[in-house]
Amino acid sequence: MTRALIVIDVQNDFCPGGALAVPGGDEIVSSINALMAEHEAVVLTQDWHPSGHSSFASSHDGKAPYDMIDMPYGPQVLWPDHCVQGTQGAAFHADLNTDRADMIVRKGYRPAIDSYSAFFENDHETPTGLEGYLRTRGITKLTMVGLATDFCVNFSAVDAAKLGFNVTVQMSLCRAIDLEGSLAAAQSGMIDAGVTLA
Ligand SMILES: [Zn+2]
Repeated sequence: MTRALIVIDVQNDFCPGGALAVPGGDEIVSSINALMAEHEAVVLTQDWHPSGHSSFASSHDGKAPYDMIDMPYGPQVLWPDHCVQGTQGAAFHADLNTDRADMIVRKGYRPAIDSYSAFFENDHETPTGLEGYLRTRGITKLTMVGLATDFCVNFSAVDAAKLGFNVTVQMSLCRAIDLEGSLAAAQSGMIDAGVTLA
């Protein structure tokens, strides 16, 4: 069984000092680097939005960050502007070992749709291509770590389990935003989908 480590969105804007900082987001970087040695494949994901992206509160008159809106593909949390393509905020944390990455998957680059999951955009239909990459490499077992537990890690892990991968989320190497109970909901949703929380 070939194992891949999927490192979700360990980017400056999700770390302390960033535009959408996840508390403790930088604490996990060195242990993620160490975990890379235990996996045959390493994939990094990178949130990668054009400026004016539809997931930004600033793109909607009268809306504030963390408001909810209805998009054609379903409800969407509005975020502060973050991870704008080519900016320092969108860059990986400086201490993350990006040299070890076999593959970098960018997501959220279409203006009208967000993408929490590494596998599908938020319409749950449009693939990112990661499934095909993993399958053609014979990878069946995934370890997921990164930011944020209750959004991009959660959506990625649930999609991977639905696609039939054997998925473990290493909770000690994730950090959460936890908006109104979103962490607890994510944990039970992952367990229901067959994800192992380690
Ligand atoms: Zn984003």
